[in-house]
Amino acid sequence: MTSPQNEQFVFSPIVPSLAVADSTQRFALRRVYCVGRNYAEHAREMGHDPDREAPFFFTKHPDSLLPDGNVFPYPPGTSEVHHEIEMVVAIGRGGADIPVETALDHVFGYAVGLDMTRRDLQAEAKKAGRPWEVAKAFDAAAPCSAIVPASRIGHPGKGRIWLDINGEPRQQGDIASLIWSVAEVIAYLSRLFELQPGDLIFTGTPAGVGPVQRGDRLRGGVEGVATIEIVVGD
Ligand code: MN
Repeated sequence: MTSPQNEQFVFSPIVPSLAVADSTQRFALRRVYCVGRNYAEHAREMGHDPDREAPFFFTKHPDSLLPDGNVFPYPPGTSEVHHEIEMVVAIGRGGADIPVETALDHVFGYAVGLDMTRRDLQAEAKKAGRPWEVAKAFDAAAPCSAIVPASRIGHPGKGRIWLDINGEPRQQGDIASLIWSVAEVIAYLSRLFELQPGDLIFTGTPAGVGPVQRGDRLRGGVEGVATIEIVVGD
């Protein structure tokens, strides 16, 4: 065994990162966690009872983050790709078993992201009791704005979350309607995984999810945080 100091990489390591708003700094990405069904109206539209469920999580790959303003390549193997506009939390300080009361101290900042989903493959996976990776963790599956530091905007507890396609309203909600608040999500997730700086958490989507088509222009945002705009490519 060689010591880590003596190891040579076969390829140079590339650290995926996101821009920090109004800064030359980059936020180096570690893991991307996502919360499922965290707005009651969306849980209902997907056929679930929002009142009885503990939060559940899935992940995407850090190299699947697509910066704001880019073309989202329509992924292969699907004919039904859905948009899910979400507020994204960027973790700046790690921890396990984080109490709800101090959870927001672990937040570096916030962003707006899209949890792009191959809904047809997700439906098949649900039916067969299979994992969701092919539905959720494909290339470019996580378009995301620059991260806005909490030192600048605080910790938003309410504000409109919205998505338009080609200027037509599709998703509407308010982050005050999160079933599990940001602090509760951090506390819950940190009992399952030790959180580290560089982790992102997609906090769930409001009602109105639906398919995107090649050529669509998606524009969305969270009031008081940021906006995001992408075009669906071929
Ligand atoms: Mn989602």
